[in-house]
Amino acid sequence: MALTPMMQQYLEIKESNPDALLMFRLGDFYELFFEDAVTASKVLEITLTGRDAGEQGRVPMCGVPHHAAQQYIGRLIDNGYCVAICEQVEDPKAAKGLVKREVIQVVTPGTWLKDGESESRFLAAVTKVGLLIGIAFVDVGTGEVWYGSASDEEALRELLVSYRPLEMLISDAESALAPKLEEYCKETTARLSTVPHSSTRSKQELSSITRQYRVVHTEALGLETPSAEAAAVGRLMLYLEETQKQVLSHLKSPRSFENAGQAFLDVVAKRNLELLETQRNRQKKGSLYGLLDKTKTAMGSRQMRRWIEHPLMNVARIEARLEAVEWLLGELFVRAELQEWLARVYDLERLIGKVGFGSANARDLVAIAQSLQAVPQVQARLNAAPPRLLSQLSQDLPDLSQRAAQILNILVDQPPLSVHDGGMIREGADEDLDAFRHMHVDGKEWLAQFEQEEKEKTGIRTLKVGYNKVFGYFVEVSKANVHLVPDRYERKQTLASAERYTLPELKAREDEILHAEERALAREYEIFVSLRDEVAAAIPAIQKTAERLAELDAILSLATAAVEYGYVRPVVVEERGIEIVNGRHPMVEAAAPLSFVPNSVDLGSGCDFILLTGPNMAGKSTYMRQIALIVLMAQIGSFVPADSARIGVVDRVFTRIGASDDLGAGQSTFMVEMVELAQILRQSTPRSLVLLDEIGRGTSTYDGMSLAEAVMEALLVPGRNPLTLFATHYHELTERAVALKRVENFSVAVQETKDGVTFLHAVVPRPADKSYGIQVAKLAGVPGAVIKRATEILAEREQEAASGRRMLAGADAAAEAATAVEAEAPTVPAEVLDWLAEVEGLAVERMTPIEAIG
Ligand code: ADP
Repeated sequence: MALTPMMQQYLEIKESNPDALLMFRLGDFYELFFEDAVTASKVLEITLTGRDAGEQGRVPMCGVPHHAAQQYIGRLIDNGYCVAICEQVEDPKAAKGLVKREVIQVVTPGTWLKDGESESRFLAAVTKVGLLIGIAFVDVGTGEVWYGSASDEEALRELLVSYRPLEMLISDAESALAPKLEEYCKETTARLSTVPHSSTRSKQELSSITRQYRVVHTEALGLETPSAEAAAVGRLMLYLEETQKQVLSHLKSPRSFENAGQAFLDVVAKRNLELLETQRNRQKKGSLYGLLDKTKTAMGSRQMRRWIEHPLMNVARIEARLEAVEWLLGELFVRAELQEWLARVYDLERLIGKVGFGSANARDLVAIAQSLQAVPQVQARLNAAPPRLLSQLSQDLPDLSQRAAQILNILVDQPPLSVHDGGMIREGADEDLDAFRHMHVDGKEWLAQFEQEEKEKTGIRTLKVGYNKVFGYFVEVSKANVHLVPDRYERKQTLASAERYTLPELKAREDEILHAEERALAREYEIFVSLRDEVAAAIPAIQKTAERLAELDAILSLATAAVEYGYVRPVVVEERGIEIVNGRHPMVEAAAPLSFVPNSVDLGSGCDFILLTGPNMAGKSTYMRQIALIVLMAQIGSFVPADSARIGVVDRVFTRIGASDDLGAGQSTFMVEMVELAQILRQSTPRSLVLLDEIGRGTSTYDGMSLAEAVMEALLVPGRNPLTLFATHYHELTERAVALKRVENFSVAVQETKDGVTFLHAVVPRPADKSYGIQVAKLAGVPGAVIKRATEILAEREQEAASGRRMLAGADAAAEAATAVEAEAPTVPAEVLDWLAEVEGLAVERMTPIEAIG
């Protein structure tokens, strides 16, 4: 089959890039062919045309202009495709025959530098070595590399949900994990990429780590080999080499995410406590992150997020942050000035990533330089700051002022986006460039002057200088004046009405004039690239600057939040125990600052376990959450919403609150609840904080109640017991609690008034009134007959319970009474039936207190 030579070249290149859409550079366009063209034309909504491929006739083709390629590539990546960019790698003018072409980069979802992205974009690699699962993440935009291991598939999933990689790499050796990973990919539209599996490749993967970081052995980086973690990092590095086809000099040394100094927060806790986003609409606004993020830079904002996800356990480190926050809080002017300077700092981490990739343009370099100019200003305000954290931070900032000055001396203030069209370099920055530019401008002037002089010398007033491609510059004289032409003129061309001549001095200038612009552009590019290379050499120092500024920004943010919301400095200690006086829920309070009712807690001294009762909507889960949030805020180094707080650091916060909305396929709510519970019982330590809400709700009353009681006992085993808040509607448990050591009954108070129930939101040290359900029913307008019957049933049940047989809560009694009325009494008044029909359609949990009562 004879194909055109170009098509042959295309197919050869396509063969070695089967998994990517191949964008093949043809002049000013990138063209796609065959299946790739069909796919791309659909995704990009561009016209599918065809091209003659030789004997095969026309084959499908579509194309995008090269100057707009980034935008099209972005669309393809967002749709889960990989794109191989194939360039002409020799000058078409210089090429003999077919221009040489090569794939210069394969862009994949996990390696794409999305413009203007401020969140992390991770590529993950998963490996299985023996029983251990290794996992590593890289954000090529910021250069972060993280690694660690997962003990089982559940732990793996947790990590994925937390890092949210956009692409994952596995090989056939991990096929057992594939279903779990595919499930994740389906939910998140991440891409699962398979790399080949062989022992040679495994070795290559490991050696790509030593190549990337220029070390002799991976152990120099703290990575033991062989290990699942090293294998995962290696897989990332080799994949980056293969796809990016260059060494990414901005990648930071890999860091283990299993840092022993950090309290652990699982996905459930992050979601239940709304640390990063709200549960209802998954937005940052309304979450703890949304509340505390007053940062001025994208880097600071990402830092804040990392701090919230990884609260500290080391008291000294926490105290250091608190000390810095406190000082800044008092220094109003310093704070305002620092924030003003930070507001001028661009996203250095990402800019430096572009430098590492070799894709930074002049505008990016100027942004880097302008950002670096803030550094001496920041230092001037922090060098003598009393908190050690701040003075140290200031001293850690590398001095890059010369580099910044150099960039700004060479580049104009607002350079264009393109690096090939000139206009980047300042006048006076480079002699050669200035000469080329002047030559171009001067050349034009010289021609005009030359024309004028020749007119005068020859006396031919119509003489003019012209230009064409064949002869270059010439002097044109009309036929009528030819007799006046001097001997110096050499005739070149005869036209019907004129003669064209050339002169030695005109020829001499011609080359200069014609090539000056071209040379100026080439020179500009040259200067720019060497400047970019110099900036690349400073990558580690700029990265360090970025990290320190991000940290400062986050601390300032905590100080600003503390002032704005009236938080106080907590006392953080090693000893176990949580004591909060008049604590508030930060987000509920922010939504309605004036009506929030503060509540206190004292766990760990006399009592380890609070059994919390009270009707729906009273404020039980708000109270429990606020305690966890205050503890976490303290461990982040933030001030807290309370009159005072003394927090003994916790190692982990466990939550089992409300119905989980993250139901795996086929799992019932109850099952999810039990899985979470099992994890809490197995993993909590005396230093953990456990929040449990309505355990056992998803099953029958007796089942559920027995389970709740057993869980309560399990959480009280001396020497193993965590600090626990346990909300329940099984009032019988409150009686049980009285008999147990280190357990206290608390409830959220409500007040009955003539017109209904008032939710006081005040937590009181006694159990809730157990017949409360019936009272609420009464206040809600349930007919007297039903209420009376419910009270009777309750009395009976209580007697039965007393004789040790059966127990039922007030609310259940009311419901049973209602059913009984419906089933047994044909004389039920019509309004009762109406009420029942209505109740069945109501979802009580989702109602506001007013609705519930009305
Ligand atoms: P429960 O868990 O007892 O059903 P919630 O904790 O969900 O109740 O609280 C119900 C509502 O009451 C919440 O929407 C919240 O706005 C409000 N609330 C709870 N606690 C307080 C408080 N201490 N001060 C003011 N409002 C509160």
